[in-house]
Amino acid sequence: MRLTVLSGPSGVGKGTVVAEVRRRHPEVWVSVSCTTRAPRPGETNGVEYHFVDVEEFTLMVKKGELLEHAMFAGHAYGTPRAPLEARLAEGVPCLLEIELQGARQVRAGIPDARFVFLAPPSWQELVRRLTGRGTEPPEVIERRLDRARTELAAESEFDAVVVNDDVTRAAARLVALMDTD
Ligand code: 5GP
Repeated sequence: MRLTVLSGPSGVGKGTVVAEVRRRHPEVWVSVSCTTRAPRPGETNGVEYHFVDVEEFTLMVKKGELLEHAMFAGHAYGTPRAPLEARLAEGVPCLLEIELQGARQVRAGIPDARFVFLAPPSWQELVRRLTGRGTEPPEVIERRLDRARTELAAESEFDAVVVNDDVTRAAARLVALMDTD
């Protein structure tokens, strides 16, 4: 099985680590998810995400076109099934970067995939990253920290843990865990 699923708490830097994998390891195919959230500045449709509206997303779910899907911060996210299955059939090493609920769905459907948890160097560091911008009201920050606590507790469900102390090293460790030969 050449499928690796990277998950971990919000704020741990999954997106940055995956961007580093994309840059340094073109042999790894990174799945492009669908989301109903709006593109951020610098994001391009079809590159970081396929940006879709709620109707399109609902239709994809109904037709069974998503391998997994979940809500995160008020928006829907999901992994298109067909492109991933095509790459896996070709024997290409594939990487999904998804939140915890989605990772659990993939585990239920594809138990022999490799599940990697990206962990912060410490709880203090995660708190710093989640509160870093200092622009959010305290109750929003408290909600995020609550969620982070629950997400961190899921570490033991995973096959391997990569600590994101340094992006380059974390990306190298992740690729080393993937079946890329
Ligand atoms: P962001 O909006 O910051 O890009 O992503 C928010 C969260 O959604 C992150 O934790 C990211 O890993 C997760 N995510 C991105 N794509 C998917 C997906 O296809 N499925 C699931 N379940 N989560 C996703």
